[in-house]
Amino acid sequence: MTGMEYRALDGTDLKVSVIGFGASPLGNEFGAIDADEGERAVRHAIDSGINLFDVSPYYGRTLAEQRLGKALAGRRGDVVLATKCGRDDVNGFDFSARHVAASVEESLRRLRTDYVDILHAHDIEFGDREQIVHETIPALKTLKEQGKVRFIGVTGFPLNVLADVAVRGHTDVVMSYCRYNLLVRDLDTELTPVLREHGIGLLNASPLHMGILTECDPPSWHPAADEVKQAGKAVAAICRGYGIDVSTVALRFCLDYPHAASTLVGMPRCSQVDANLEALIATIDPALRAEIDRTVAPVLNRVWKSGRPENHE
Ligand code: NAD
Repeated sequence: MTGMEYRALDGTDLKVSVIGFGASPLGNEFGAIDADEGERAVRHAIDSGINLFDVSPYYGRTLAEQRLGKALAGRRGDVVLATKCGRDDVNGFDFSARHVAASVEESLRRLRTDYVDILHAHDIEFGDREQIVHETIPALKTLKEQGKVRFIGVTGFPLNVLADVAVRGHTDVVMSYCRYNLLVRDLDTELTPVLREHGIGLLNASPLHMGILTECDPPSWHPAADEVKQAGKAVAAICRGYGIDVSTVALRFCLDYPHAASTLVGMPRCSQVDANLEALIATIDPALRAEIDRTVAPVLNRVWKSGRPENHE
């Protein structure tokens, strides 16, 4: 078995595996999955040393939490469990204190536990920034005092919003996605230095750029520009030429980033868990890396707008 590496998550007393299990595909967000296989993937991940599991009521509109809760039966003590609140549907946001308190109760029931290790406010750029700081985060802190939640955080896409809210709200952690991988590498511009200065933990999600850096097509809802999707296909072809899978290279690239305690990757199949564990021992040939960088250069850091206009970058 590949030896797992663990890193301290700043802002908490948690030690998390450098590869984390992203559970959004358990909610069929990337296409319908075999539910039994998804549960096997969860247990296989635990047996392989992965201890961080991230989910949300939003993924599959509660389906991912239900499936993850079932898969974790009897294994809750082996994992660091993170879920979210505030987002329940594509356009369904409610960051009020009342909703946060009700939402976590339902998450705990679906996840079959009486506490989660991390509770994030989900995709905060879709909310009112002052409400997040002055109402949502205080509600998360109340849950912490009640012992239902051990640590609190925020997730989202625009870096400046995450940095501003995390610092003003004194969150323990932040989860960013699609801002540090082979296609987008701008996490250091506005977020990482701020979190480091304040001792706030950083989790990096979507190392495969939500399916673009794989041998399969990304989901139809993927917000990236067509040129970025084409660049992903070109990178996959280059990796093939070097006899290595694009996902392995993409994940390895993220594991080499020292400031994120864990990289969260969605992997609803045992074979994908195994493939992603390969990244732990993989190295990227410098010639391959140079070719990837040349190919990606025209679209590097091409991001999309997310959330309310006032929260756009
Ligand atoms: P990802 O970049 O991890 O890509 C997931 C896709 O790649 C899935 O289709 C999966 O089946 C496939 N895949 C995984 N390993 C593979 C392999 N070895 N070979 C081929 N295909 C492979 O994107 P993601 O799932 O969106 O991100 C990971 C996790 O991070 C999510 O599940 C979620 O927990 C978290 N996340 C949070 C937010 C947020 O809070 N706003 C946003 C994005 C992701």
